[in-house]
Amino acid sequence: MANLAERLPENIPGDFFVDASCIDCDACRQIAPGTFRDHGEQSSVYRQPETEEETRLALMSLVACPTASIGTTRKHDMRVGIDAFPSHLADNVYFCGYTSESSFGAWSYLIVRPESEGGNVLVDSPRFAGPLVKRIARMGGVRTMFLTHQDDIADHVSFAKKFGCRRVMHTADGAGRRGIEHVIEGEGEVCLDDELRVIPVPGHTRGHMVLLYKNKFLFTGDHLAWSPVKETLTAFRSVAWYSWPEQTRSMEKLLSYDFEWVLPGHGRIHQESATKMRLHLERCIEWMKATR
Ligand code: SF4
Repeated sequence: MANLAERLPENIPGDFFVDASCIDCDACRQIAPGTFRDHGEQSSVYRQPETEEETRLALMSLVACPTASIGTTRKHDMRVGIDAFPSHLADNVYFCGYTSESSFGAWSYLIVRPESEGGNVLVDSPRFAGPLVKRIARMGGVRTMFLTHQDDIADHVSFAKKFGCRRVMHTADGAGRRGIEHVIEGEGEVCLDDELRVIPVPGHTRGHMVLLYKNKFLFTGDHLAWSPVKETLTAFRSVAWYSWPEQTRSMEKLLSYDFEWVLPGHGRIHQESATKMRLHLERCIEWMKATR
């Protein structure tokens, strides 16, 4: 729980606040942009929630925060935030909330499918929090856990143990030593089933992969995200741990695919027609090539 004594001075007075433990992951600003802002290297409350919906979003942020840095001075029904996750995005795709500090608040997602169609897929690992685990169990559990790369695996062992799911990860990001059930090798596309295509995209890490679901949803980990500032797709130059030129080359591979949603671990989600998304991808690649 957030510590009132550590309340950041940048918060406006009132009920909700952020304390000094904030790691600036951006989750609260994405979930409740009407309440939280970036004041530099941390977040703070710039406007207190007034409506029921604003309060719900602020409570969702409190639950999703990886470091429990968001608090309230008044008592709230926490179930409002807790029961909101997994939170529906589109079709049968959900945002898990409950981000983990060990993955710096990376977002994870749940694809809900009947067992006859391959079962549920968890993309990257949220925190192994009791209420979330119970909700996922009620939604059919996890058949496959897709791990985009080594930074965002958080509590994958606990999820694998609980749901007996197969985990999918690339050998170059240490899948072998982690006891991963389905180890991907090389740079070629791998089809997990008729709807799920794994595309290795080395760059951010050597074994980074993205997952394309139904040629519509692209789960991108730390490879690709939307930039609201540039108003186009972007990649993160400062954290291209393995190789920026490789990441640029990997980005070009994605031009062969259609997708309408970009669902990243870090950075912003974006939805647009496949045609417009391709144009954004081309702009991103052009910028990457010009960036050293
Ligand atoms: S979700 Fe928590 S850690 Fe992340 S920016 Fe908000 S207050 Fe900070």
